[in-house]
Amino acid sequence: MGGWLLWRLRPPALVYVLLVQASALGLVVPVVATSRPPQQRDLIMFTMLAITAGTVIVATSVSITMRHQVRRNPWTIHITYLAAGVLTLPPNLLVLLLLGPALHGVLDVRPELHRWMFTTAATTIAVFSARWVAGWEHPGWSPVQFVLVGAVLLVVRALVVAIGLRLRNPAAPRQEVLGDPIDVLLGIVAASLGGLLAIALVAEPASALLAGPPLALLDLASQLPQWRRSAQRDGKTGLANAMHWDRLARVELARARARSHPTAVLLLDLDHFKRVNDEIGHMAGDAVLAAVALMLRGSVRREDVVGRFGGEEFVVLLPGANSEIACTVANRVRISTASLSVPARDIKGNYRELNDLTVSIGVATTSRFGYELSDLLVAADAALLAAKAAGRNAVTMA
Ligand code: GH3
Ligand code: MG
Ligand code: MG
Repeated sequence: MGGWLLWRLRPPALVYVLLVQASALGLVVPVVATSRPPQQRDLIMFTMLAITAGTVIVATSVSITMRHQVRRNPWTIHITYLAAGVLTLPPNLLVLLLLGPALHGVLDVRPELHRWMFTTAATTIAVFSARWVAGWEHPGWSPVQFVLVGAVLLVVRALVVAIGLRLRNPAAPRQEVLGDPIDVLLGIVAASLGGLLAIALVAEPASALLAGPPLALLDLASQLPQWRRSAQRDGKTGLANAMHWDRLARVELARARARSHPTAVLLLDLDHFKRVNDEIGHMAGDAVLAAVALMLRGSVRREDVVGRFGGEEFVVLLPGANSEIACTVANRVRISTASLSVPARDIKGNYRELNDLTVSIGVATTSRFGYELSDLLVAADAALLAAKAAGRNAVTMA
């Protein structure tokens, strides 16, 4: 994330970021200069929106800080009151509403200031695009316009941000650029709540305060993927943790049983791993675990289920694999492990390349042991012990 320091960006990304920020500024200055002065009713609606948004921003920031968490997708709540502002406020007060994200940026611990500024600029562009679509002076209130405002706000913002992320890192995975699928849903919920908030605001400005609790709940909901991830993934390797792997494996085995498809389980244990820890250091040990996990993921198909079983033990379920295929895959993994070269620092802080890693693998298949996961694991474990006894760096079939 440190790569967002402005001067470290690749030139196309740097030009783009500056262009987006200049465009946002280019929009805001004439809006402030040319808008009609707000009327008393506008000021009341603005005040109610600002109090609601401000309270939610402060409360959620305090709660996140107290739980020592880093907020994921902090933008969801801003979409709501900005959408309401687009539909109700004169453009100059809408500009003031854009201080909400700035307040948030100050309260949350965010080291990537330029990233925050860039997203604020993207949001500014999206907000004024939505306003332009709604009608600059007097936004229309037909159902179609409500939908259009929400859609333009979300799509323009997502597009401006996605282009920036892609330029920053052309090799970034799709999900990093486009966000988690749940963010699309959250964005739609936030924009819809914004529409309702606009209606409430015009009917009775003080009723805007009622939007506070649902907004806070929306922020909580946007943390769900991060909680789900930490409950399912192993932090050091990013693989499924033992419990999650167990669940996934059971689902795959039930499916395979119903279709009478063969399935195989590989249990892997790195050889003499303790030596890496004892002779080079635990950080180096961790680097090896991460490298093995990456290699493992790259050595199997997408539908194969890879997990971290325990310390330096990994487990793979291969749906559709008979013993021949399983043996081929296991040997491929064994050979890839032997050719791994892992850069790491030793306990003195010197950089080293770690080679000569080996792994022992036990393989069990449903054709011999049936579709019960525990039976397969017991058999694979016995085969693994046999591989160790046979001198390690070996694959043994149960
Ligand atoms: P063998 O060939 O018989 O498997 O020998 P081994 O040294 O790999 O086996 P042993 O079970 O004695 O050692 C496993 C080591 O893995 C011991 C433990 O310190 C280390 N380990 C377990 N989890 C982690 C981890 O998360 N990080 C690091 N660095 N080491 C770990
Ligand atoms: Mg072990
Ligand atoms: Mg071991």
